[in-house]
This record gives sequence, structure tokens and C-alpha cells, in this order.
Amino acid sequence: MRAPTRVRGLIALLCIHATIAVTVALPVAVGDGANVRAKAPGTTTLQEIDKRIDVALPMWLDFYKTCHANPELSLQEKESAARIAAAFRKAGLAVTENFGGHGVVGVLENGKGPTVLIRGDMDALPIIEDTGVPYASKVKVELGDGSHVGVMHACGHDMHQTVLVATAQMLAGMKEHWHGRAVFVAQPAEEIGRGAAMMIDAGLFEKFGKPDACIALHVSHEILADQSNGFLGDDVSQRITASSTPVRDRSRSNPAANHRGRVR
Ligand SMILES: [Zn+2]
Repeated sequence: MRAPTRVRGLIALLCIHATIAVTVALPVAVGDGANVRAKAPGTTTLQEIDKRIDVALPMWLDFYKTCHANPELSLQEKESAARIAAAFRKAGLAVTENFGGHGVVGVLENGKGPTVLIRGDMDALPIIEDTGVPYASKVKVELGDGSHVGVMHACGHDMHQTVLVATAQMLAGMKEHWHGRAVFVAQPAEEIGRGAAMMIDAGLFEKFGKPDACIALHVSHEILADQSNGFLGDDVSQRITASSTPVRDRSRSNPAANHRGRVR
């Protein structure tokens, strides 16, 4: 079975991307908020990121499988939000729950500097999972008409939750490599196009500050597991690829694309 290898590779890759994006954006973001530039992180930072990924990857894989096996539909992300809030708290973030529906905001303060917002989504789709993986979703929910529907993370939001938590843990553990404020946003109800507006309407920017830069990742079957496709520019991308020892699987890697399912 190839899925776990792909999952491992993708988690590592996205964590590398997200962490590097934040660590390089925070120190160099300029005061006017309109001209945030990323620069290649130093070798020490890359080595530190790699080292931390090697240690934490099994834990993140467990977290991913728990997310995958326990999907929740849009506006019902109660357990997913609680899981993320607990992980944020454990990492030392200041956590606000139930912000714009089941939205969770975790803030990591690290001295003076700009604010970078990192966003991931939590909701799953009304799809019956048919993948056969050991951690496949068996969740079914009853609809208003008495019929039942399967629920599956078929869009990769299980991965997004994992990367969000993992990036928070990474940055909390390597504060000497960056400064400023990192605001982690776990957004509900992405699949129905409402969650972002719900959190903004709840006062996201008023309460947590207007970010100087925002980072959001989405898995894609168009991107190979060991290629960053210019996400941070060629120079950084090459260094990421060179330093990403956990990423070994060169096959198409999107777990959402890998997951076989059928709608209802
Ligand atoms: Zn999605």
C-alpha cells in the first residue's frame, strides 16, 4: 500500500514549505504591510527544520490519520476544532475557540515584528470513502430527510489541519530563527464557501491584528511530492528539495486524489 509513504512525504513537504515561508517572511516583512518579501533561509534554519521534521513526523502522521478517520461536514467541525485547539495549546499558543462558527485562532508571540497569518481549513465532504486504507472514514451522518451520507476528507483538509498544527509546533520550538507574531487560523466551512467570511465577520482582523502577510496551502495532485514548483522561488525551492530527506516518493501525491470514494 503506497498511501502512507505519500502521506508522510506530503506532510513533510508542506511543513517545510509552511515553516520556511513563515520563518523567512516574518523577519523581513516591512512595516507598511504592502511589500513583504521572502528570502532564502540560512542553512542552519533548513537543517533545524529537517531535524525537527524527522523527529516529529510519526506524531504528525498519527494526527493526520485521526483527522482522516474522523471527518466532519461543514459547520459541524466541533471535534476537529477541539483537536486543533488542544494541539495549539500544547505548543504554547494563545488559543481562541468558536470564532466564526467552529473557527480556531492560535497566536504565537515572539517579540517585535510583523504579523503573519497561516490558514488551514477543517471541513470534509459528503462522500462515502472507498479507499480501503486502515484509517478510512466510517463516519455517516443523517440528513434532514432521514437518509444517511458518508463523510470523507476527500479534499485534503485532514492534511491541512496536520500541517497547520505541525507548523505551529515547529515555529514554537525554533523561536530563535524568527521574530514577530504568527497567527494560525483553522477555518471552518470552506467547502460551502462560508467559513472565511464567518471568521472575518466575527472580527478576525480587529481582534488579532491585520496581518502583514497571509499564507494558505492546499494540496494538489498537480504538484509532485518532492517538488515545490516555484512556491518560494527557484533558489529556495531547490534548497528545500535538496534538504527534504523525508520526501522520497516521486509519484503523484495528493491524498485527496488518491482516495477513492463515491458521492453518497
Ligand atoms: Zn479543499
